[in-house]
Amino acid sequence: MTEADSSDKKQTVLKFRDLDTSLREEISKIPGCDKLMLCFQCGTCSADCPIGRHLEEYKPRMIAIMTKLGLKNTLFSGDLLWLCTQCYTCLERCPQDVELAEIISALRGVAVREGYLHPSFKKVIEALADHGYIYEITEFLEEEREMMDLPSAPKVNIDEVRKIIRKTGLDKLIELELKED
Ligand code: SF4
Ligand code: SF4
Repeated sequence: MTEADSSDKKQTVLKFRDLDTSLREEISKIPGCDKLMLCFQCGTCSADCPIGRHLEEYKPRMIAIMTKLGLKNTLFSGDLLWLCTQCYTCLERCPQDVELAEIISALRGVAVREGYLHPSFKKVIEALADHGYIYEITEFLEEEREMMDLPSAPKVNIDEVRKIIRKTGLDKLIELELKED
């Protein structure tokens, strides 16, 4: 490695006080996340992740190791968890059957419960409360569906969606003013 190469590499020093090993115990107990500790950092998930292909700093295998180490603050306070599209490619490729997409989903739940509310999460819930979908199904999208011989997007009972948001306390959690039913 040249001097220039090594100076370009970002060094991270881990401090024991930043590690919270209860995180891996909690996550491993969630259905679908029980194989977390089997991750041996082969990197296959990072190689095939569609987000990782476009964003150098996004590496799903890092999420696995950070969860195992319990680097809660780094995991929860940045964008990392929220960049995943839940495409499940990592899950299909993993030689150890680690269900990383499920683990990321579980981590998001823990992060929200602990008050780490990423702006994208709020936007998704707002869209859900407004349209019943995580984005608006516009006329243009309907035309595109038609061109692809797809049926119309199913109609959503928006009152029911808002009822669920209210009942689960999601509106209070993200300080969302729900429109009247
Ligand atoms: S593919 Fe599986 S074992 Fe390999 S780094 Fe990703 S999660 Fe870990
Ligand atoms: S589920 Fe998320 S982490 Fe896994 S390959 Fe898809 S975008 Fe990447």
